[in-house]
Amino acid sequence: MSTATVVGAGPNGLAAAVALARAGVQVTLLEAADEIGGGTRSGEAIVPGLLHDHCSAIHPMAVGSSFLSELRLDRYGLRWAWPEIDCVHPLDGGSAGVLHRSVTETGAGLGADGKVWRRLFEGPSAAYGIYGDDIMGPLLRLPRHPVRLARFGIPALASASLLAKVFRTEEARGLWGGVAAHAFHPLERPLSASIGLGILTAGHRYGWAVAEGGSRRISDALAALLLDLGGKIETGIRVRSVTELPPTDVTVWDVAPTDLADILGELLPTRIARAYRRFRYGPGAFKVDFAVDGGVPWLAEPARRAGTVHLGGTYAEIAATERDIHAGRMPERPFVLVGQQYLADPSRSVGDIHPVWSYAHVPHGYTGDATEAIIAQIERFAPGFRDRIVGTLVRTTPEFAAYNPNYVGGNIMTGAKDIPQLLLGARPALRPYDTGVPGHYLCSAATPPGPGAHGMCGAHAAARALRHLAVADSKGHRGGT
Ligand SMILES: Cc1cc2nc3c(=O)[nH]c(=O)nc-3n(C[C@H](O)[C@H](O)[C@H](O)COP(=O)(O)OP(=O)(O)OC[C@H]3O[C@@H](n4cnc5c(N)ncnc54)[C@H](O)[C@@H]3O)c2cc1C
Repeated sequence: MSTATVVGAGPNGLAAAVALARAGVQVTLLEAADEIGGGTRSGEAIVPGLLHDHCSAIHPMAVGSSFLSELRLDRYGLRWAWPEIDCVHPLDGGSAGVLHRSVTETGAGLGADGKVWRRLFEGPSAAYGIYGDDIMGPLLRLPRHPVRLARFGIPALASASLLAKVFRTEEARGLWGGVAAHAFHPLERPLSASIGLGILTAGHRYGWAVAEGGSRRISDALAALLLDLGGKIETGIRVRSVTELPPTDVTVWDVAPTDLADILGELLPTRIARAYRRFRYGPGAFKVDFAVDGGVPWLAEPARRAGTVHLGGTYAEIAATERDIHAGRMPERPFVLVGQQYLADPSRSVGDIHPVWSYAHVPHGYTGDATEAIIAQIERFAPGFRDRIVGTLVRTTPEFAAYNPNYVGGNIMTGAKDIPQLLLGARPALRPYDTGVPGHYLCSAATPPGPGAHGMCGAHAAARALRHLAVADSKGHRGGT
């Protein structure tokens, strides 16, 4: 029986481990933290029984992931739940852009911009099930559905700011800007529209779902399946050198590329080592979870029913704050994302005390305290919020980097989403999961299709590892190190 070691138990490491174990490989998964899950951990904090997602919260990409769907993780306790409204983008004065799962309903609420919204998202979201896999993998390959992909892909080449010009109302422009800002990248740059378009297209198709019982259910379900398939999981093991690993036929790495350069050391071909060492990380995150008595008193009524609320004001304001953090300047009013997962999954609350998730976009490696800036942004659109806070749980940017080695400088995307890295991942190659060391594959969110708890990077890397095993078997030998 072939053997595999997977290092890192984030959703991609777990997905890789499951894909290998399903193919009959004996898998051992090693995780640095005491708990599996990486960016999908959840836990009680602040008030006993109140459940917080420590990282990922909203999962249109996971619901739409062809790999996760084929695993039937509902058998292992993963259930999705949807809020009444997907996302709201409030503006000063109480108006708001409102995103529903239905394109038609969203368009109907956007007045003069309804037609444009429908034109942008109706066709692409309806066809997402057909061409979705073309964008959820390496982009430098022949697409299987080029015509359908083109309808999505042509606007994705633009900058978010160019695309914003097609909207006439501040509500639609703000709604678009808040989603586009998920790229953690200046919105004037080419291709900066792509991540926002991907989220919106998948979202209109699958909804902005949360996992019942917390995002940890995604990794718990993957881990339960892995154990069922005979895999082993060991936690509390931070791998710092390939020499620490037991002999194994293939190894899949859910780690940051710069770390992999150190771990594989001299085994790496020089040009790949250089590419991994030069890998760039983007701006950071600063997170505050709140326990809130009675929920957030949003001025814009739809925000009281929305799973996600984006706070940054007008499109122009968001574009300016994203420019600032990219240039290393902390804005006075940063872009803040607020999650109200309890509206879809009331089991996370304790009576009328609700868990409210939030994080701000901040410069890479930011060492300041953004707690007050986050509270002020929420208060701006929900006067009286401050008085409802029962308690807070703060994770600073350096604490993020310590919490998960893949969040270098607090960059929760595991890499800047500039053009080369967005298109190619960690290095220029047609096979971005290959490390150049036979039998070793990179599967973290630094590889295509990038961040999100969808497991697709892991599934693609495992496919490369399985191919290596098949070739080794056909030659009558194993090629791992
Ligand atoms: C605040 C926040 C909000 C987010 N919101 C969302 C969201 O709403 N929706 C969404 O889809 N995504 C979201 N994400 C992103 C998502 O969590 C990540 O993109 C996803 O978890 C990446 O998966 P991964 O497996 O590549 O890496 P990770 O989840 O980062 O896991 C990597 C794992 O590898 C381990 N590891 C690293 N190096 C080593 C080593 N040398 N030895 C042993 N173990 C090692 C780490 O400890 C970690 O457990 C969010 C992330 C954060 C932090």
